Amino acid sequence: MECIFCKIIRGEIKSYKIYEDEHVVAFLDINPINPGHTLVVPKKHVENILDADPETISHVFIAVQKVAKLLMEKLGAKGVNIIHNAGREANQEIMHLHVHVIPRYSKDDIKLVDWWRSVVKKMDLEEIYRKIIG
Ligand code: 5GP
Ligand code: ZN
Repeated sequence: MECIFCKIIRGEIKSYKIYEDEHVVAFLDINPINPGHTLVVPKKHVENILDADPETISHVFIAVQKVAKLLMEKLGAKGVNIIHNAGREANQEIMHLHVHVIPRYSKDDIKLVDWWRSVVKKMDLEEIYRKIIG
């Protein structure tokens, strides 16, 4: 099946593009969780950060900063959450790299970080550290 974000990039599917440069496009998420929820996407089709080349990652994150500042200036956001889902187990649904830029407003009802702090688990950091570092 053809990639839906490649179609958006080529203009074959309508989207609300709020930023574009040589390497990157940013458009409003069709299912926003807050006003201005945006997806920043490289024009080159790569699946996610795990298979992207460093140049693509760098182009995307430079654009993420520009988009975040644009949303703060134009929509009066007070902060942003930046989220990238890589892999199906991490809830990636569209397999074309995209970074969610979610503007945050004072007293909005988004509980992202509140949620993850509520499920913190006790675990042996020493054991995990040894597995990673060898
Ligand atoms: P993820 O793959 O990180 O779970 O999220 C994919 C995101 O793409 C979702 O937030 C979804 O709302 C958004 N999305 C899926 N299809 C379209 C589309 O056709 N247009 C736009 N603008 N967003 C889309
Ligand atoms: Zn694609």
